[in-house]
Amino acid sequence: MIIDFHTHTFPPKIAAAALDKLSDNSGSRPYSNGMIDGLQDSIKKSGIDMAVVLPVATSPSQYETINRVAIETNEHTDETGILSFGGIHPDNDNYKDILSSLKNNGVKGIKLHPVYQNVNFDDIRMKRIVYEASSLGLITLVHAGYDIGFPGWNQAVPQRIINVIKDVEPEKLVLAHMGGWNCYEDVCELIAGKEVYLDTAFTINPIEKKDGTGLSKYNDVQLTNEQFVNLVRKHSADRILFGSDSPWTDQGQYVELIKNSGLTDEEAEKILGANAARLLDI
Ligand SMILES: [Zn+2]
Repeated sequence: MIIDFHTHTFPPKIAAAALDKLSDNSGSRPYSNGMIDGLQDSIKKSGIDMAVVLPVATSPSQYETINRVAIETNEHTDETGILSFGGIHPDNDNYKDILSSLKNNGVKGIKLHPVYQNVNFDDIRMKRIVYEASSLGLITLVHAGYDIGFPGWNQAVPQRIINVIKDVEPEKLVLAHMGGWNCYEDVCELIAGKEVYLDTAFTINPIEKKDGTGLSKYNDVQLTNEQFVNLVRKHSADRILFGSDSPWTDQGQYVELIKNSGLTDEEAEKILGANAARLLDI
């Protein structure tokens, strides 16, 4: 079973514009139309059984729509293979109600993005959400490290993440991008081996320019196979989750990259699906 733990979709009305804007900011190209149907086609084509969609609330008012759509999406997971997490913003003072409503509606987890939300991950407004989510048994997936579209913004660097791990001791915390995009030395030093999950999203893929003229200037910050496998083993293959960051990578190609990275078959099987199935309890 292959589960992609890190994907994104956008509402049909804004998908084309959102992809264009994010693509301009990051200088990298999308590989689907960025909508649910595009993701569904992509997982089918790639032999992926389930994709977890991670919506981000970039303003406090967005949680209602995001979470309504998430609950509707999850009514059809059996047919579509698409499972959505919920969204919440650090300035939602009613965070306890939002989280318990998600829990009561069967949503498995939430996504936080300290950079897009412009709040440090070790700010109390983030920590209280992680604490409450953990108490309810929800998974918290957080963007980790720098963001390709916001160079230098440090709201989610490993030095902040470790403060949250120490203070909150969350049970089901997933750090995207192998614990910190473009911060891998700090991840190895501060995060590897801690009782958290890391996802593989956008860490070992080549980064192609939007206009198709070759590789982006950011390509050389990606992990080599050797660095990737070393980090997997230093952390534990039992707590690594396959994520592609679709539409920002080709899911089928990403599965192959993981399989051919130098992991053992047993490690690859855990990472590509078994760990996620256990965490999601499916
Ligand atoms: Zn992502």
